[in-house]
Amino acid sequence: MAKKPQKRIKHLPQRTCIGCKTVLAKRELVRLVRTPEGIMVDETGKAAGRGAYVHNTRRCWEQALKGPISHALRTDITPADQQRLKEYLERLPEVDPIENRAESRDVTN
Ligand SMILES: [Zn+2]
Repeated sequence: MAKKPQKRIKHLPQRTCIGCKTVLAKRELVRLVRTPEGIMVDETGKAAGRGAYVHNTRRCWEQALKGPISHALRTDITPADQQRLKEYLERLPEVDPIENRAESRDVTN
């Protein structure tokens, strides 16, 4: 059997950061997953459950914690979740690796 050499276009999976709404390569984002125990940081990126992606920058985490997380995961952020996510946030670098000011939306309710 002769196999046709198929040129595969390398497709980088892309996801949207729920903090700043920028579309990025998945590897630059941290996955959050909704589990029965609450919202967890999915280090493997493969955990089952509804997931959401956030940039690995503090700014986006802070932004995401203000509401987009609960919206994206369709769940409420419990105080325990807040605590856990803030602990993770504090391990992130303070400076943004990339300057991203494509869209600075002011979401005021
Ligand atoms: Zn972001």
